Amino acid sequence: MAKKWVYLFTEIEEVEKQVGGVWDAVRSLLGGKGANLFEMTRIGLPVPPGFTVTTEACNAYLAAGGKFPEGMWEQEVAAMKATEKVTGKGFGDPNNPLLVSCRSGSKESMPGMMDTVLNIGLNDITVERLAKLTDNPRFAWDAYRRLIEGFGKVVLDIPDTSFEHALHTLKDKVGAKMDFDLTPDQLQGLAAEYKAIVKKHKGFEFPQDPYEQLRLATEAVFRSWNGKRAVDYRKHEGIPDTLGTAVNIVTMVFGNMGSTSGTGVAFTRNPSTGEKAVYGEYLINAQGEDVVAGIRTPEKVARMAQDLPEAYAEFAKICQILENHYKNMQDVEFTVERGKLWMLQTRNGKRTAAAAIKIAVDMVNEGVITKKDAVLRVSPNDVDSLLHPQFDAAAKKVAAKEGKRLGVGVNASPGAAVGRAYFDADTCEEKAKEGPVIMVRQFTKPDDVHGMIAAKGILTSEGGATSHAAVVARQFGRPCVVGAASIKIDMESRSMTADGVTVKEGEWISVDGSTGEAFVGQIPTVAPKFEEQTDLLTLLDWADEIAAEPGSRQPGKSHSPSRGLQIWANADYPADARRARNFGAKGIGLTRTEHMFFEVERLPIVQRMILAKDSASRTAALDELLPYQRKDFDGLFEAMTGLPVIIRLIDPPLHEFMPDEEKLLEEVIEMRLKGETEGLAEKESLLADIRNLHESNPMMGMRGVRLSIMMPEIVEMQVRAIFEAACDVAQRGFDPHAEVMIPLTGTINELKWVQPRLERIAAAVQAEKGQKVDYKFGTMIEIPRAAVTAAEIATLAEFFSFGTNDLTQMTFGYSRDDAERNFLLKYVEEGILPFNPFQTIDREGVGRLMETCVEEGRKARPDLEVGICGEHGGDPSSIEWCHLIGNNYVSCSPFRVPVARLAAAQAAVKHWGK
Ligand code: PEP
Ligand code: MG
Repeated sequence: MAKKWVYLFTEIEEVEKQVGGVWDAVRSLLGGKGANLFEMTRIGLPVPPGFTVTTEACNAYLAAGGKFPEGMWEQEVAAMKATEKVTGKGFGDPNNPLLVSCRSGSKESMPGMMDTVLNIGLNDITVERLAKLTDNPRFAWDAYRRLIEGFGKVVLDIPDTSFEHALHTLKDKVGAKMDFDLTPDQLQGLAAEYKAIVKKHKGFEFPQDPYEQLRLATEAVFRSWNGKRAVDYRKHEGIPDTLGTAVNIVTMVFGNMGSTSGTGVAFTRNPSTGEKAVYGEYLINAQGEDVVAGIRTPEKVARMAQDLPEAYAEFAKICQILENHYKNMQDVEFTVERGKLWMLQTRNGKRTAAAAIKIAVDMVNEGVITKKDAVLRVSPNDVDSLLHPQFDAAAKKVAAKEGKRLGVGVNASPGAAVGRAYFDADTCEEKAKEGPVIMVRQFTKPDDVHGMIAAKGILTSEGGATSHAAVVARQFGRPCVVGAASIKIDMESRSMTADGVTVKEGEWISVDGSTGEAFVGQIPTVAPKFEEQTDLLTLLDWADEIAAEPGSRQPGKSHSPSRGLQIWANADYPADARRARNFGAKGIGLTRTEHMFFEVERLPIVQRMILAKDSASRTAALDELLPYQRKDFDGLFEAMTGLPVIIRLIDPPLHEFMPDEEKLLEEVIEMRLKGETEGLAEKESLLADIRNLHESNPMMGMRGVRLSIMMPEIVEMQVRAIFEAACDVAQRGFDPHAEVMIPLTGTINELKWVQPRLERIAAAVQAEKGQKVDYKFGTMIEIPRAAVTAAEIATLAEFFSFGTNDLTQMTFGYSRDDAERNFLLKYVEEGILPFNPFQTIDREGVGRLMETCVEEGRKARPDLEVGICGEHGGDPSSIEWCHLIGNNYVSCSPFRVPVARLAAAQAAVKHWGK
């Protein structure tokens, strides 16, 4: 049998047989619009009769360089004959003409990107007949001139302006304000003029044969798949070029046949709030394009209940049927022709984040969908956008129009921030006492953190998504844009320039961390509150339930944990821990203790400790630090009572705590030149000490556990502070669970050296305090060697936490500080890397190491707790990977916790029982 290229709307069963019954395949073959027209026909809704030419036909046509595949045209003609039969009209029949539209429609929605031709079947003869049959010559001539115009533009490529010019000239001449002020005679004249335009541009007459019109229109729709608009849109949206478009031939129904006719577009629920009420617009006595073109101001669709009560009642019923059928909010187009309702389109409606969440939760409560469906309905981005203040969209548009946009960089940490711009951390901290500030820097370093904490937002001209600024901003929930390269900061004049705009220090700027934009001036914001978002809270509770269900485990994997993937948070301060808990975190997965060392009153003690010439003076300095650390940990344990808190021992190389070498050198040179002697010797000695600490590659130098072995006194103090705090907190009636984490382990021998010493301190403190606390010792897995030798490492480590920032750095051999700045962007652009591996886990490389590590580690210690605390912990794809390899938890910045809760449940549902 010849291949079938054309299906009648009534032939859904045949289509399903052809593609194996899978709805996705039906959509691939018929396009989204076509598939839903078939489905609406199947469930008995009033769809005008018609048929669809498949996407396969389109692809075959394009592949053959513009030739219909064999048999297609004959099938199209046969389908037209069948349509004539059901409508009782004839295509080109002068007595009772059948008119059709020819509409594009690919699998993925590409609104307005491809072509459509209406009123096919009209010609010089049928138009006259239509005028008589409808007793409405105005309507008939208007339809005809619209066909010639649409056909001329879309099929024959005649510039729009030719037709528009003719229309305007006529309106001016007869003094008509609107199109509908034109009389039948004037419209008839216009049709003749349009035909003359066709002749002039193409050298042939406007085709009078309806089948010729249909053939050319079908070809035009096929061709529009490769039109520039469509190609650009697909590129932007990541829609494959191979899908092709279907062509839907639908019997025309007219909403412009008097006061019992009308047309409209509507959503079955409010797409902006999610409220359950039909929402949309309609126009009485009008054609669909009038609604879209805004020629007349449409009424609210609810108004139809008064104008056309019967049609409205049926419409409302159909909206409910469609929602129940598709189990989703629908976006529909309809027409009422002389009191009779026709459905022209339905599809899942686009919606705002707030609406997406409300609709998902409501539909579960209405019994339409399951909790698992609901969790899949909402995107992690939807959740994210509800947690951060957002700029008022209209105000932002105006600012952009007024040329106030300073530049666009990487959207490193979402949300909207408005404040006065300051260019260094100290000034930010100072000025923040007077009002909101935005910290603007080329890039940030650990000693900028106090300024970042004080700032409402952060903007840098360099750096990528895992630069220091980005990581810290996310951790503190500060909106942040990094790498806005158009911005040039001039510290001399204390101003910045971008795209011709100069901003002086202290001027207001606005930073949109959700989109990566920065503006001069104050853009108004709207701020949501997590606790008040009841629908979101409900959805996330369901997400937690789903992730914890036994079915979410990976069967056949002996290493899968006994409960589902949990979400923990990275937090250094009690306030962050409280926030994380409020967002639903079930533990703290990383406390970076060194951040605490940078605080103003502690840094000098830390420096003294580093520069100590002997163990005794080092211990003296550490004794001074101990109460500070104890207090830090005390607050964390209290905030997280009943839940685990992982505290990582000191990790960065020591030079990070010292004054800047270059700056100090300049000071020494200047003093020498000026002959100043007072304090010079101390400065020279300090300079020598800093130089002593210099390493050519500090990221791979004396940091992490290596530092603990070379200077054990520091971590000994830290462990004492941890256990003193835990015992104190327990004695106050709280329930601390301390997990001490050793960073950057590469071999079991490092743990063998350091861990027993620390365990002895833990035991000693508990004995001193007469208090037992729950605790664990474990390690970070950040070095490939540790991942590969996990079975050995797990003999001592009671938990693993993947530090995927370092693990990615070491596996690829890319410096995390340099890669994003220098070459990573190009690598992604050129397709050398599919994405930035510092944002999303590289499953084939880094991910494989993680998987092996979990398997090996749990062989040695079946109850080994495994988590991740690198920046990937907040990334949905990486969370999915952690689910697949059997992690116990992912830990991310507090503001990412809700997003991660959703992503964990989505991973569980997606791989349910697989
Ligand atoms: C990591 O390496 O992933 C990690 C969490 O540690 P840091 O970023 O502090 O090196
Ligand atoms: Mg690390």
